[in-house]
Amino acid sequence: MNNKVNVRFAPSPTGVLHIGSVRTALFNWLYARHNNGNFFLRIEDTDKLRSTDENTKLIFKILEWLQINWDGEPVIQSSRMDRHKEVALDLVARGKAYYCYCTPEELASKKEYCLRENKPYKYDGKCRNGNTNHDLNIKPVIRLKSELDGFTVVNDMVQGEVKVNNSQLDDLVLIRSDGTPTYMLSVVVDDHDMNITHVIRGDDHLTNTFRQIQIYKACGWDIPKFGHIPLIYGPDGAKLSKRHGAASAIDYMQLGYLPEAISNYLLRLGWSHGDEEIITRENAIKWFDFNSVGKSPSRFDMAKLQNLNAHYIKERNNESLLEYALPFFKCELTEENKKNILKGMNSLKERAKTIVELADSSLIYVKAPEIYDDKCSKYATSNHLELLREIITKLNNAEFSTNEEELCNSIKEFANLRNVKLVEIAQAIRGALCGKLASPSVFEIISIIDKEETIKRLNSFVDHYSK
Ligand code: GLU
Ligand code: ZN
Repeated sequence: MNNKVNVRFAPSPTGVLHIGSVRTALFNWLYARHNNGNFFLRIEDTDKLRSTDENTKLIFKILEWLQINWDGEPVIQSSRMDRHKEVALDLVARGKAYYCYCTPEELASKKEYCLRENKPYKYDGKCRNGNTNHDLNIKPVIRLKSELDGFTVVNDMVQGEVKVNNSQLDDLVLIRSDGTPTYMLSVVVDDHDMNITHVIRGDDHLTNTFRQIQIYKACGWDIPKFGHIPLIYGPDGAKLSKRHGAASAIDYMQLGYLPEAISNYLLRLGWSHGDEEIITRENAIKWFDFNSVGKSPSRFDMAKLQNLNAHYIKERNNESLLEYALPFFKCELTEENKKNILKGMNSLKERAKTIVELADSSLIYVKAPEIYDDKCSKYATSNHLELLREIITKLNNAEFSTNEEELCNSIKEFANLRNVKLVEIAQAIRGALCGKLASPSVFEIISIIDKEETIKRLNSFVDHYSK
């Protein structure tokens, strides 16, 4: 065997991809890339009732979006059922597994008994040494002959040494009575066949690991290394879910977070490299290791994610930002619109925390405001409107130019002459141009949308508030 690192991300398409799963994918991917190994993708779709094609497509989409590229073709677990069964039958042939004819009713009543007696239930091993005295109509399950004595020890890359007394493990089912392999079996067979060297997954799988190790041992296979990373919790300490705002990866995409911000944020959540907060992909690959993955649960901090997102928005070049933002506009953009947005982009991107905000604030270069924010009325008194009328005239007469700097000077002078504060005039203009009181510099906006459009918007504002 060569000692190349092979890891895999093995999501089940039974729901939309959780942001916590994305972090699992990212840690696997970084570990693979750091070690020049392989990162494989396996779609665990054996639960046919709950798995959907849409969810599978979403997994591909999110990984592509985050540039978490996988090696080779994705493995579709359901296509390997015959192989899983073959392994189980081989275990039976070698006396490592056995047919169990206990009926669901029989097992249920034993479970109930334990519950009543307050004892932990585990399969009692009735068929472990053969059960010849069974109803011929019963379709048996196949159970693993687990070790009865000793301990199963995991030297986990994150959790350290964890062990369990084998007497606590029961003879788990490998093949159900309908002939389908169980999750426990499929995972182990696939990980073995894919030469997986490191199994990196959420710590909710830790208890499964003890049982899966039993399967490896029975098969006589090398046991991979395990790394169980803590789950992501909401600010209130409960597992991150929809009610914390957003839990699925697609939500974050739609809320206007950049993939580089999400990656950076998820990386820092539960992993650190000194005090570094902004970590490029390149450095992440260079630095990633399991020594710095924390054991304690991570709390999702939306404000931190927003700050990172704002940072990465500023980092992106203007063209790529516009390109990225296009689907976030609820309207078609003309070439002229795009040109103007690009002209204003340096200021727009300074202020945006998400791409949704960026697209929203860019609308000033697409169309006149359809409504005015309530706050605008403060700058729409008769005095303000009078000033705006004068400005309109001066623009019309070309007394004011629409050159940003020249206009700024002219308006400053005008404010002086009329004995009003510049902010009074600027806010009135802002309300007129943008419909709200927050935007880049009004002189910049005017220089971009130009005279005709400026006059049109100023007039509409004056009309609106003169009524
Ligand atoms: N399919 C499992 C899940 O989505 C992961 C299995 C594994 O990583 O071993 O939770
Ligand atoms: Zn049995």
